[in-house]
Amino acid sequence: MNVLVINCGSSSLKYQLIDSASESVLAKGLCERIGIDGRFTYKPAKGEKIEKEVDLPDHAVALKLVLSTLTDKETGVVDGMKGIDAVGHRIVHGGEKFATSVVIDDQVIKDIESVSDLAPLHNPANLIGVRVCKELMPGVPMVAVFDTAFHQTMPKEAYMYGVPYDYYKKYAVRKYGFHGTSHSFVSKRAAEILGKDIDDTNVIVCHLGNGSSVCAVKNGKSVDTSMGLTPLEGMLMGTRSGNIDPAVVSFIADKEKLDADAVMDILNKKSGVAGISGVSSDFRDLDAASREGNERAELALSMFSYQVAKFIGSYLAILGRCDAICFTAGIGENDGPVRARILKYLEGLGILIDSEKNRETVALV
Ligand code: ADP
Repeated sequence: MNVLVINCGSSSLKYQLIDSASESVLAKGLCERIGIDGRFTYKPAKGEKIEKEVDLPDHAVALKLVLSTLTDKETGVVDGMKGIDAVGHRIVHGGEKFATSVVIDDQVIKDIESVSDLAPLHNPANLIGVRVCKELMPGVPMVAVFDTAFHQTMPKEAYMYGVPYDYYKKYAVRKYGFHGTSHSFVSKRAAEILGKDIDDTNVIVCHLGNGSSVCAVKNGKSVDTSMGLTPLEGMLMGTRSGNIDPAVVSFIADKEKLDADAVMDILNKKSGVAGISGVSSDFRDLDAASREGNERAELALSMFSYQVAKFIGSYLAILGRCDAICFTAGIGENDGPVRARILKYLEGLGILIDSEKNRETVALV
């Protein structure tokens, strides 16, 4: 069965066509700058990569181009539209409505709309992808896969914030968590590698990328995670501040004569390791700058490692028993020195790192 996986943003559309039996990617690519000008990338598993500037006035035009390229006699990887059996849509926020992936029907679209205020930049864009596919591929089953769903098993004491209870009742203000598909996949894969039953496996998953989150998985279920109502909570990230005293928002607003939205924009886009270092949000640049003696790049790396270690420590406390600490995503998979720095804090708890193996960085997928 060939599944077209779509991650639709407000001005981009990422796609992969996956043969679910072999789990191989037949082709993947990206439409960027939709509604601005347009750029199209297409990489088939075999054959020539296509990259071109092309007019992409809206998502429908972008998706039509994706479908026609995937099914084209020369460039394509499947024989016509019948070669696409289903579509999987990444939906960022499922609120409390979705604890699992679901087949999309009209009611599901309404329910996704009803929680869109929780992710106003993401959910409406994700839904554009759903609507365009529905129109262009009538009858092809579509499934919504939510970033938040895996964390719906968190207990109330983990997901409630210490604010008036009314805000939870009226506005659904609470911790939701993100990166759920990654935390779910990695915890299951860890159980397999350990030769354990997932229902009896406790792990801590560190998804460390441009956005980072840590998740405590108990008996295969998420019981706590570092991101919250939005993906801003947690450790400092590429450009996001992570946890700070909430009073900083009004303090900065007052000093810099900004409104709350402008401060939130700074906390999302100009903070994190980029804001601290003044160098970059990319850990490769920070590693290089730190080696050359840049003190703020070094500070950003130590803050990140320290904060990740604190999350691991707190999750060790609530899990009681932990069978593995897993690292995934761009930094988690590739940055051995950062992994070592994080785990160094945990030596006192008996967690020792094998420096040789840590250097190898072999992905165990
Ligand atoms: P996202 O999906 O959130 O955009 P990724 O999981 O792809 O992020 O991670 C991207 C980040 O991973 C980069 O910004 C960079 O900081 C880090 N990264 C990628 N490769 C390496 C590497 N070889 N060494 C150190 N960091 C890396």
